[in-house]
Amino acid sequence: MDEEQNKMRVSFLGVRGSYPVPGKATLRYGGNTTCNVVEAGGHTIIVDAGTGIISLGIELVNRHLKTKEPICATLLFTHVHHDHTFGFMFFKPVYFQSTIISILGPKTFAGDIYQELRDLLVSPYHPVALDEMPMLATFGNLMGGEVLRFRPGAQNPQLMCSSTGADPDDLVVKVCANPNHTKLGVLHYRFEYRGRIYVFATDVEAREKGEPTLCEFASGAHLIAHDAQYTDEDYYRGNPPKKGWGHSTVKMAVKTAQITGAEKLALIHHDPEREDDALDVIEKDAKKLFPGAFLAREGMVVEV
Ligand SMILES: [Zn+2]
Ligand SMILES: [Zn+2]
Repeated sequence: MDEEQNKMRVSFLGVRGSYPVPGKATLRYGGNTTCNVVEAGGHTIIVDAGTGIISLGIELVNRHLKTKEPICATLLFTHVHHDHTFGFMFFKPVYFQSTIISILGPKTFAGDIYQELRDLLVSPYHPVALDEMPMLATFGNLMGGEVLRFRPGAQNPQLMCSSTGADPDDLVVKVCANPNHTKLGVLHYRFEYRGRIYVFATDVEAREKGEPTLCEFASGAHLIAHDAQYTDEDYYRGNPPKKGWGHSTVKMAVKTAQITGAEKLALIHHDPEREDDALDVIEKDAKKLFPGAFLAREGMVVEV
């Protein structure tokens, strides 16, 4: 087994928070909202369906039309705010009968992932209802604490009580529910494959001293992708101040990386009002605090 096959491939397809921002001033970091893809052991796991998922859908369908192989994927939702779901109805594979997709997301007081996606696609807001989409979809609810095991060659994940018993060739995904995002909270995902660990933690309001739930969950990660929508200026002195809006500052993300012993820190969920030049400054400052920090850019691929 060569070194490359031991690694996870993480693709950042949408790194913008809140709403898409196309235009000249956002070309370098990208204007699409959250979509992250993890590939390992032959599995493709998509996290969130912000507008960044749309280009992935086109690519997967083009490949399918050429090879005739069905599209098989797993789509995990962190939560269902619009910036994390708005690409779903434009994700081309859902309109193909041969597509097999497992969709898992949070169950909250407001409903479960099936109900929430169904309600998002209701007429007159979208012409195709969830149940009318030709894909073969299975839905699963996550409440935090679950362990998903992706076995080699298997299309659907197995739900386990713990990672004890997982084989070294399995891709294991752990789920953590964190209440520290406005009203209904958010799910974080931890990917483990052949001893390498990647944690995706978007839409979380951490703390200056570290947020205990996330720090414990992300312990030992090689790469953490962490919400860093705000600067200290935005958070404490903005007009209005953004404290309590459900997102972290760059310093909070750095603190998480320091406490957990991460090698690298990808800052994500960039503020839509922040243009490329301002993001360059944030990245430079973040590197001074934590040398392994960088700002995720749309289209960036990182091996973990
Ligand atoms: Zn968001
Ligand atoms: Zn959110």
